[in-house]
Amino acid sequence: MERSTIVRVHEGLHARPATRFVKLAKSFECDIEIVRDGKAVSAKSPVKLMLLGVKENQEVTVRAEGADSIEAVEALIGYLENPLSGLDDEPQDDGAPQAEPVAAPVPVAPASLVQTHHGLRGVAASEGVAMGPAFPYFPAEINTDGRTLAPDETGAEVERLRRAVATVQQRMDATLADRSLAEGDRGIVAALRDIAADEDLIGEAERTVAGGLDAVSAVMAASAQVADEFAGMDDPYLNARADDIRAVGRQLCLALLGEEEAGLDALPEGAILIAEDIGAWDLARAPLKRIGGIVCGHGGATSHVAIIARSHGIPAVLGLGGQVDALREIGAIALDGSTGHVHPDPDDAIRADFEARITAAGKEREALTAYRDMEPRRADGTVIEVAANIGSLEEIDAAREAGAMGVGLFRTELLFMRHMHLPSEDMQAETYAALAQAFAPHPVIVRTLDIGGDKPIAGVEFPQEENPFLGWRGIRMCLDRPDIFKRQLRALLRAAVHGNIKVMLPMVSELDEVRRTRALIEECKGELATEGKSHADFPLGVMVETPAAVFIARELAKEVAFFSIGTNDLTQYVMAADRLNPVVAGLNHVENPAVMGAIEMTARAGVEAGIMVGMCGEAAGRPDLIPAFIRMGLTELSMSPASIQRAKKCIAEMSAG
Ligand code: PEP
Ligand code: MG
Repeated sequence: MERSTIVRVHEGLHARPATRFVKLAKSFECDIEIVRDGKAVSAKSPVKLMLLGVKENQEVTVRAEGADSIEAVEALIGYLENPLSGLDDEPQDDGAPQAEPVAAPVPVAPASLVQTHHGLRGVAASEGVAMGPAFPYFPAEINTDGRTLAPDETGAEVERLRRAVATVQQRMDATLADRSLAEGDRGIVAALRDIAADEDLIGEAERTVAGGLDAVSAVMAASAQVADEFAGMDDPYLNARADDIRAVGRQLCLALLGEEEAGLDALPEGAILIAEDIGAWDLARAPLKRIGGIVCGHGGATSHVAIIARSHGIPAVLGLGGQVDALREIGAIALDGSTGHVHPDPDDAIRADFEARITAAGKEREALTAYRDMEPRRADGTVIEVAANIGSLEEIDAAREAGAMGVGLFRTELLFMRHMHLPSEDMQAETYAALAQAFAPHPVIVRTLDIGGDKPIAGVEFPQEENPFLGWRGIRMCLDRPDIFKRQLRALLRAAVHGNIKVMLPMVSELDEVRRTRALIEECKGELATEGKSHADFPLGVMVETPAAVFIARELAKEVAFFSIGTNDLTQYVMAADRLNPVVAGLNHVENPAVMGAIEMTARAGVEAGIMVGMCGEAAGRPDLIPAFIRMGLTELSMSPASIQRAKKCIAEMSAG
């Protein structure tokens, strides 16, 4: 029994729609295959199905053999012909895998460690001093000797492998049963559990064991082979699945060896996390409240690990290079996230110094709470808005507690990276509306999607780029993908009914980009009016973060409602120094006269045109620079919540002075 059809599932059969398809297929007893371009795979293997790479509007054949084949083909064809299959209108509580954000890759830094008489020195990535027990997080590599089995050993070894698979599945089920598991984490664990049960992966390992190789080596070979297949696909989402396969392979090997991964859950209160590299998403899921500080071989001051550390007030030194290895065996460590100094196993003098500084910092934090609710003003009475940079609704409370006067930068990337498919218009509208309501009457500035070749999202195919930071990112990508962009703009127009929403465009380098966006906004308004959906207009501004935008700031100022200076990117582009590369971190300073000159030019153009000029790059929270920015005419500064009270104090003192 077989039938062919054109796949209408939105974005095709990858990720969630694929795993749901497999689940449906598994509910039938018959053998089922799905065929595309002459290639047939089992419809009951999520790995095989994902690797088939079935896209929307492609023709496939469903072939079934067995007792219930008629019902199976009918159900599966119905699934394939439904554009909404597997998307977010379906129930989410069945343990099916869902969101897995993709962490921004942090490039490998060459050894850049500077050994000083103060200890080691890396990139000062998140201010503050910390000292505590070291928590080295260097998951051990699994080595295997590739042992050949005697013919009478293979049966027992296959059994051992099956027991290991069961153990891993039980461990994952136990994690899934934990009610405290966050929704996003649940999706990841559920996806891994599916892989651990995959007949393609496990079957291949079993066949290799039956052929005479020990189980650990067989699992490593099978997972490496499947992972390589994923890595070779022309889809960034599927490429990222290679890591999932390796992670499951690793878990299986540990179970075979009778071990269990310690993970970050075991991190004791106040410990300093030491790692060669840690993905932004791993960090976001870690017990952040317990982490006293972070020391990392990779990353730079504006990498996303640094941004997460700053937003949670965790001192961090990154970019220590390969020599972070030297910190594997230490017992305690002190670090200064403002200078980049790291002291392994500090002696008594250093301990005393850090203890004094930690106490002083605690007192300062205490004293700063007096500024929480103040509305800082310039000497002439103009209010300076001190707002928060956030990336998810979970951060609202911390921002409000810190005294944020609204949001100066809502990074929408996380919303897109968290999901295996593009977030729907309704879901986006709800998110933006919740944000606007939480801060009303203060403004909330939502930045439209700023995603690029270095940070893939599900549902968008990015080209392979030599220089992703100079490539198809931000507004460039959005204007080329009006289907994605209009969905976000429509959601923003709908959310604007609920509060004070402003919208800004990232990576602008031409006037035409603003004009084309306006035309799309008009189109969206027309559509919403026709559909009878309530919506409201919003002020449209731009981020000034490319040198091109600085040079055309006068022209831009005539066409937009506000500027927000993005010093993270502006610094890297003005100085031609990659913001993630610790080797050129010495050039990546906003206080360099070239960058300060660019900020001043932008401010002058904005002030002359009578529009608001703000800043949302990390420099906005620096007390040493805030007076200069205010003198240039900036009236809004947006920063990590942890910096808000100090910034308010700084402005108050400046005005009093
Ligand atoms: C910036 O570039 O300064 C900025 C705020 O944006 P992001 O760090 O998200 O690129
Ligand atoms: Mg930027």
